Amino acid sequence: MRKNSTMKNRTRTLSRGRIAVVGGGVVAAIALGSTAAFAAGGAHASDGAGTSAAHAVVAVQKQAAGQKAAAAEQAAAKTAAAKKAAAKTAAAKKAAAKKAAAKKAPKITNASWVTPTTGYTLGAGFAQAGPHWIHKHSGQDFVVNTGTTVRAAHEGTVVTAGWGGAYGNNIVIKHGAHLYTQYGHLSKIGVYVGEHVNTAEKIGLSGSTGNSTGPHLHFEVRTTPYYGSAVEPLHFLRAHGVTP
Ligand SMILES: [Zn+2]
Repeated sequence: MRKNSTMKNRTRTLSRGRIAVVGGGVVAAIALGSTAAFAAGGAHASDGAGTSAAHAVVAVQKQAAGQKAAAAEQAAAKTAAAKKAAAKTAAAKKAAAKKAAAKKAPKITNASWVTPTTGYTLGAGFAQAGPHWIHKHSGQDFVVNTGTTVRAAHEGTVVTAGWGGAYGNNIVIKHGAHLYTQYGHLSKIGVYVGEHVNTAEKIGLSGSTGNSTGPHLHFEVRTTPYYGSAVEPLHFLRAHGVTP
């Protein structure tokens, strides 16, 4: 009878312990498994059901507090990481914008192109037919008064500087493989063959020498030093950032 009573008491203690844990409002205790079970089991060894329940609650609360602190720490770390990532993204964006701006800025280098003269009006265009040419016009005429400065459209090396028949006094500059410019009807040639010229450097004066009906600069962009290899010069200049 007594033994039975003890068993009953033990069972009740266990129940009370469990109820106390759950009643403590810490639902996590159920999920805690081993820790909660150990706390409850340890409590049975002692004699007070209330004490065991209190121990269990304290243990669970301690655990919960630890978990809460860990979670807060984790959250703080997460926030810091996010902040760091945002700063990194902002910095990258700023660098990209800076790069784009640098790309947009006009380049003042020898690599740029310029019109072969200034203060002109555009005359006869490329491939235009007319009574003055046996074949279609092989260049672009820039109409200017005689004596106007003619300049290298791009840096290069002079490969022709002299009389060019129908072109009168003319200059051809080599800019690279398969890229030449030609300047015709000049009144004066200011460069010699083999001379290196910079972009926009003065190379002579405009005129009306050769097969010409009036003062103007005849300008060609060619793929060889010779007549017959010209390409549309205004299209070429536009493609190289120049608005003729
Ligand atoms: Zn011409």
